[in-house]
Amino acid sequence: MNDLLLAKSIFVGCVFLSLFVAERIIRAAPAAPSAKRLFRNGGLWLVAAIASPLIVAPITALGANNAIWNRDVFLISGATATAVLIIDLIILDLWTYWLHRAYHRVPVMWRLHEVHHRDEFLDTTSAVRFHILEIILSASLRLIPIALLATPLTTVIIFEALLLSAAFFHHSNIKMPAPLERALSWVIVTPSIHWVHHHARRSDTDSNYASILSVWDRVFSSRSRTKRTENMKIGAEGVEELSFLGLMLSPFMRRRR
Ligand SMILES: [Zn+2]
Repeated sequence: MNDLLLAKSIFVGCVFLSLFVAERIIRAAPAAPSAKRLFRNGGLWLVAAIASPLIVAPITALGANNAIWNRDVFLISGATATAVLIIDLIILDLWTYWLHRAYHRVPVMWRLHEVHHRDEFLDTTSAVRFHILEIILSASLRLIPIALLATPLTTVIIFEALLLSAAFFHHSNIKMPAPLERALSWVIVTPSIHWVHHHARRSDTDSNYASILSVWDRVFSSRSRTKRTENMKIGAEGVEELSFLGLMLSPFMRRRR
């Protein structure tokens, strides 16, 4: 298990570094002008990085170790095991789609998720900009599919690596050849799709919820018709960016929505 966690960290770290460098060489939109933003996003990531091994990982292990049935009775191996792994990953991605939709639709959940959307620029660092309570809540709610389907812990770790890598990619400010991005967008969520989700217009923010596979927004009619443009205003409509401390406290503050 420790080997898998190490492999996950190395894989995700390599994806982050590659995209972080690439988006500074071939960028699709103007770069964030302020280094303060990097510290703000980095601060939120640091809180999550400290809390994850202490809180989030034990929550995930709790679900995987307390499934309501045991898959071992099926003695799955070979090609079947690979097929089961792929189906598990697709189900976890579908769960993540609906969870993301809930974060936008349930006011108390939006209070947490809005911290992510207040970012007024997007790049790879936006992918790790989440309030720690959102991360803990997401891990807790994910216990439902994990326990119901008896999803192995190794599968959840593989999914987390794919999800984080996908998030680095679809938040990145990397400029890709249009035909390549168009082709990719039929299968996975590309920056052109996800940047519209961060458009500071409520109707676009409440669309394009998919994380890895782009199909979910088409299946569940949540795909925005808006096309990403270079100078599209990024952020959450009607609210502004805050300091690191302001972001940590913002879910508990009075607000309009
Ligand atoms: Zn969102």
